[in-house]
Amino acid sequence: DTGRHDPQCLFCRIIAGEIPSDRVHEDERVIAFADLHPQAPVHMLVVPREHRRDVAELAEDPELLAHITQVAGRIAADRADGDFRLVFNTGPGAGQTVFHVHAHVLAGGKLAEGEL
Ligand code: 5GP
Ligand code: ZN
Repeated sequence: DTGRHDPQCLFCRIIAGEIPSDRVHEDERVIAFADLHPQAPVHMLVVPREHRRDVAELAEDPELLAHITQVAGRIAADRADGDFRLVFNTGPGAGQTVFHVHAHVLAGGKLAEGEL
């Protein structure tokens, strides 16, 4: 499902403000908030407001995908030294648990290769 608010979707509910989150960025297309279980000193999720399942679906909107990478870079520059890892878990076999696409932004420490 692309576009509409899905009342069953955790991240649609966070976007709607029905579930609280620590927001660090919001604009007309995306919001970013702290991951509940951080795996790096800075661990934020950048999420498009429109419901899309995964990064494959997001790739249909390259400008939105580019915007997410720009927001990620700004978060890493503001809250860490500017270096960051951007992770899209795609499909259950790759660890995706929330099926509303989100970019994990990991920064603020020496991130070992192969983590996450
Ligand atoms: P995935 O495993 O789908 O790539 O990532 C889902 C992420 O969402 C996990 O890192 C998990 O810690 C985070 N998460 C799950 N539930 C919540 C929540 O209610 N609030 C926040 N802020 N993060 C959540
Ligand atoms: Zn959703």
